[in-house]
Amino acid sequence: MDCAQHQNHEGHQHGPGCGHTAIQHAGHTDYLHGGHLHHMHANHVDDHRVPVNSANPDSCSQAHQCGAHDGGHRHGPSCGHEPIPHGDHTDYLISGHLHHQHGDHCDNHGGVVLA
Ligand SMILES: [Zn+2]
Ligand SMILES: [Zn+2]
Ligand SMILES: [Zn+2]
Ligand SMILES: [Zn+2]
Ligand SMILES: [Zn+2]
Ligand SMILES: [Zn+2]
Ligand SMILES: [Zn+2]
Repeated sequence: MDCAQHQNHEGHQHGPGCGHTAIQHAGHTDYLHGGHLHHMHANHVDDHRVPVNSANPDSCSQAHQCGAHDGGHRHGPSCGHEPIPHGDHTDYLISGHLHHQHGDHCDNHGGVVLA
């Protein structure tokens, strides 16, 4: 994993109970913060992303309707769901899995394990 050091992250140490959603990622814990996946690395913060793989594909799943929100909902900035970086795009973390806005429907880009 490359060390992609995140700038301008002062005054907050992610950790248990810090208030951000924590997920398990490749054997460590990362924290969702402002659409980034933050990893505490020594004295700085790295930006991680959920990798695209068989568990988290970036392909179209056809219309995904799990009932977590109504069919007219459009994910986007300030839609109220937690943004999470996946591959080269942003998804939304809902009930432990990734919703991807694809045209007029949602794709399911797989699950993550909450820490
Ligand atoms: Zn935090
Ligand atoms: Zn990570
Ligand atoms: Zn789709
Ligand atoms: Zn869903
Ligand atoms: Zn949404
Ligand atoms: Zn959705
Ligand atoms: Zn995705």
